[in-house]
Amino acid sequence: MSYTPPVSEIRHLLSTVVGFDQVSATARFAEAGDEMVDAILYEAGRMAADVLAPLNRVGDTHPTRLENGKVRMPPGFIEGYGAIAQGGWVGMAADPEYGGMGLPLTLMTAVNEFIGSACLSMNLIPLMSQGQIEALEHHASDELKALYLPKLISGEWAGTMNLTEPQAGSDVGALRSKAEPLGDGTYAITGQKIYISGGDHDLTENICHLVLARLPDGVEGTKGISLFMVPKLIPDADGTLGVANTLKVVSLEHKLGQAGCPTAVMQYDGAKGWLVGEPHKGMAAMFTMMNNARLGVAMQGVSVAEAATQHALAYALDRKQGQTPKGATAIFDHADVRRMVAGMKADTAAARAIAFECAVSIDMATATGEAAWNARAALLTPIAKAYCTNVGIAVADTGIQVHGGMGYIEETGAAQYLRDVRVAAIYEGTNGIQAMDLVGRKLSDGGDAAFALMDEINAMDHPALRAAVTELRHVTDWLLEQPLNERFAGAVHYLAAFARIIGSWTHLKGARAGGKHAKLAQIYVSRALPEAMAELGKVSLGATDLYALSAEDLAT
Ligand SMILES: Cc1cc2nc3c(=O)[nH]c(=O)nc-3n(C[C@H](O)[C@H](O)[C@H](O)COP(=O)(O)OP(=O)(O)OC[C@H]3O[C@@H](n4cnc5c(N)ncnc54)[C@H](O)[C@@H]3O)c2cc1C
Repeated sequence: MSYTPPVSEIRHLLSTVVGFDQVSATARFAEAGDEMVDAILYEAGRMAADVLAPLNRVGDTHPTRLENGKVRMPPGFIEGYGAIAQGGWVGMAADPEYGGMGLPLTLMTAVNEFIGSACLSMNLIPLMSQGQIEALEHHASDELKALYLPKLISGEWAGTMNLTEPQAGSDVGALRSKAEPLGDGTYAITGQKIYISGGDHDLTENICHLVLARLPDGVEGTKGISLFMVPKLIPDADGTLGVANTLKVVSLEHKLGQAGCPTAVMQYDGAKGWLVGEPHKGMAAMFTMMNNARLGVAMQGVSVAEAATQHALAYALDRKQGQTPKGATAIFDHADVRRMVAGMKADTAAARAIAFECAVSIDMATATGEAAWNARAALLTPIAKAYCTNVGIAVADTGIQVHGGMGYIEETGAAQYLRDVRVAAIYEGTNGIQAMDLVGRKLSDGGDAAFALMDEINAMDHPALRAAVTELRHVTDWLLEQPLNERFAGAVHYLAAFARIIGSWTHLKGARAGGKHAKLAQIYVSRALPEAMAELGKVSLGATDLYALSAEDLAT
């Protein structure tokens, strides 16, 4: 499938919409000037289009296989991953002390978009490593950092995150994996983890599993969980790989999509592990990885939305059906098809802008240490994760519709986009859990971060946008007075409204450049703001009606 990286759109976004100049003006990211940004977008885009895009279909038709306990990747994936690692894209935001480039997360986010658009099945392996690198940078001992970071950053080793167990999905605190101290500073890790992305593969010489487990004195729930580094092959102090650890892949999951990405059931049988961070503080350490991964997964939604839009436009311009007074016409000229394709493009741009607003906030928090940037990033993370992945799914679905019957037939590739992206609303915390995080933890500051963002949005002189912000304020005030379960009942609607208001604001900022940006903003804003008002109207419906229906009422 051909793919054209949207370099000029991302350039526009950085300069006109999300204020990337603030990031490059900091001492920390001073190197990320225009020339560097252009070079990164060009090089990463070229790699994605030339090397990775041809692998997208291959991954779908040649799923990962488990052979004699080892996972084999689809043909060409070793070379594809090699291009990502050799380009330095895995560790581009990592600490230069360990071989990283120390570049802003915002630029890594752009590169991740390209990789995900070109081949989503290839995206999770470097994404998991990036999250693990950040978690180790923040929480690991100096010895662990020195041993693992250079290899992860270079892409020679890959990282995974191991939270989920059969009885512990969204409720991570229910996990049963155990860690027994061995008396020499190491631990024996025992337990089963399911759905582990990249649990095994033949792309790297070693795989580093970050595993959540409970120490003997760990209390029940999330407060008693610790985090451990459990390598597939145990390295000696200078990184030379030694004996195999006592862990194995039990099976690979058969999935709706991302057939080229291995999702493994992992068994740890007294596997040797090293504590990362403090005992019983594993969730805090894992949260570093999860927040990084949430933005990465948000970009998976944007990636697929972008690729599906390109694909649908090309088809709509080529396929002829129906007549105009001038004769046979491409379906693109029908108003309803224009509605679909223009909507896909506008929604994709809004989702990308929200994710980049989040990335810029994270970079500014890193560079300045200011609490307000941290709070803005924390607020935007669940909004970006849920909205961008929902857009990815909706746009891929509309892409099928644009293709008509050919969208339902696998050979056009339109259906693969939908199958591949569907899981993005589920993993890294389901989108329902993201919405609950938004109305729960992220409003626990009394709404300060949310109101600060609303003030920023309100500074734009646009009557319909201001009316929507006024309503968002009222609804936020109402939410803050409610018990948690009332908030949760309307959480998805609140997130949907907030995202559309931010999306409209970003579109209107971009519209200042005029031309196609202004026209696209008109498409988005005129649809998204009424939708936001409707969603806000549903937030306060509350939980009573939902609990009034019994399970018997819902059965036949
Ligand atoms: C392809 C794939 C790759 C994955 N990769 C990884 C990985 O690398 N590492 C890893 O650790 N895990 C991974 N996961 C697991 C993933 O993170 C979980 O599937 C996800 O967190 C949801 O958990 P669950 O599947 O047990 O669903 P459940 O927790 O059983 O949720 C089912 C439904 O109930 C809802 N729900 C659950 N609890 C609540 C609540 N308190 N309030 C309201 N609604 C609730 C959910 O939103 C959802 O709609 C992966 C999953 C898949 C499918």
